[in-house]
Amino acid sequence: MRSVYCGQLKAANIDEEVTLCGWVDRRRDHGGVIFIDLRDREGIVQVVFDPDGEENFALADKVRPEYVLQVKGKVRARDAATVNPNMATGEVEVYGTGLEILNSAETPPFQLDSHITVGEDVRLRYRYIDLRRQEMQKNLYFRSKVTTAIRNYMDENGFLDIETPILTRATPEGARDYLVPSRTHEGQFFALPQSPQLFKQLLMVSGFDRYYQIAKCFRDEDLRADRQPEFTQIDIETSFMDEEGIMSVTEGMIRKLFQDLQGVDLGEFDRMPYSEAIEKYGSDKPDLRIPLEMVDIKDLMKDVEFKVFSGPANDPKGRVTAMKVPKGGEIPRKKVDAYTKFVSIYGAKGLAYIKVNDKDDLENGLQSPIVKFLPAEVCRAILDRVEADNGDLIFFGADTHKIVTEALGALRCKLGEDLNLYTRDWAPLWVVDFPMFEATDNGGLTALHHPFTAPSCSPEELQANPAEALSRAYDMVLNGTELGGGSVRIHDQGMQQAVFQILGIEEDEQREKFGFLLDALKYGAPPHGGLAFGLDRLIMLMTGSESIRDVIAFPKTQTAACVMTDAPGSVGADQLKDLHIRLRAKPQAQEQKSESQTK
Ligand code: ASP
Repeated sequence: MRSVYCGQLKAANIDEEVTLCGWVDRRRDHGGVIFIDLRDREGIVQVVFDPDGEENFALADKVRPEYVLQVKGKVRARDAATVNPNMATGEVEVYGTGLEILNSAETPPFQLDSHITVGEDVRLRYRYIDLRRQEMQKNLYFRSKVTTAIRNYMDENGFLDIETPILTRATPEGARDYLVPSRTHEGQFFALPQSPQLFKQLLMVSGFDRYYQIAKCFRDEDLRADRQPEFTQIDIETSFMDEEGIMSVTEGMIRKLFQDLQGVDLGEFDRMPYSEAIEKYGSDKPDLRIPLEMVDIKDLMKDVEFKVFSGPANDPKGRVTAMKVPKGGEIPRKKVDAYTKFVSIYGAKGLAYIKVNDKDDLENGLQSPIVKFLPAEVCRAILDRVEADNGDLIFFGADTHKIVTEALGALRCKLGEDLNLYTRDWAPLWVVDFPMFEATDNGGLTALHHPFTAPSCSPEELQANPAEALSRAYDMVLNGTELGGGSVRIHDQGMQQAVFQILGIEEDEQREKFGFLLDALKYGAPPHGGLAFGLDRLIMLMTGSESIRDVIAFPKTQTAACVMTDAPGSVGADQLKDLHIRLRAKPQAQEQKSESQTK
């Protein structure tokens, strides 16, 4: 039906007879000549119909936006005056000699260029129209290029693409499971995989050695802006490779993607221990484009009379830190107040600061509500430690370690954005040496990565002091976003059981939930490890999209629903009966509330 895409026509095609198929982007009637901008996935070209071709002209007069057309015509150069440099096909146009209306279209619910004002709800409801927009076409086109390049890289490096089940048992990755009731096993449920973690480890036991999969994962968690309940991972596992080997092959993939698809050389990635990331940047995924660092001043504050500082300074769980903003003295007072409010989200009770007008004049050169509470020698020591210059602003955090770290870590990113402090476009790095566990609110321990991660110490050391143990995990971070993470795994049954024990998973539960894994580890499990990247986030970063939803064809809303298909939906009584499910009656008040809510 078509000889060439609209968006591909250029000067080289002049004088060619072409057949185009596409949608009407715009139609203009210019004094007896009709211009139709015809659009397909490659772009837009201008088609001209004049009254000489009577029948075509009459048809062209009838078409409306989003009609589907087949156009025959001849490519010709535009007059110099009408060349459109903003259009890829702007040097040419097609003189229409044939026109067939393949389908008409009702007036779309929003004009394609008015998407910003219509709101995302409408865009998602009519996603098939929203996806016609050039930005969305470009994003999905790019996504396809990325997955193809990934497959090629993986294939060239000896990885096999193997699928793993979607209907399975729970795989703990720290979220709630999506459950699927079984018709054939009354009262029992499958869980959708939070990741293919256990299956990929079993594939290593089977000897497949290098596995990858572009895999759908499902996590029922409270959604944040960049999360989706169903998302895609580039999932990788290898045998007989240590962390160096795994990081090297996966870094190679990301670097190649950026090089080949963006023309960007990311260079060799930095490495940073988790503890340094937390202490200096207040985050386990620091954005190293921002040149701000937290500097500890706990030792300086132990003896000051100012309780706000000396309290946390003398508390083993406390933290007192300073963060210098070069030239931050220009930040208006109002803005500083707004930042104080901002850090309160993270539990900070205030945001002390010193504006350095003259660093040599401690009496009059420091503008701050707190210097009057601090001895001169302490002020001097602070200025020296952060290497303050005139015109700088120093922010302080003093509270529990957690609050200070989170609050100033977030403030650091906010300042980076607000003041556009970025020093480079791309800042990739590996964060390594993670702790094995973190404390839960009820005094227990939970796996920081997942329970299958190998510790970097012996089983005896692990059991003696689990809270201090480090793991063989690594995360790849790009511009403050965690692109992926993984670890060398436990391949010894005894070690796996020891970790379960520390996590409070008793033997019965171990057998019930992970018996198949523990068994497999007995039958010749090789040393193995791997990693998974979040494909959606990777594409979001590479395309510079604001939302993860803009790089997924049919995403869910913030409330984990699909407004287009109206999923999730209710099911009939027969189906429920087949599944052995009886719904609990909703309390009346709640029923009314949820009925009045749109999904
Ligand atoms: N399964 C892990 C995750 O989803 C990644 C890995 O350890 O390979 O985060």
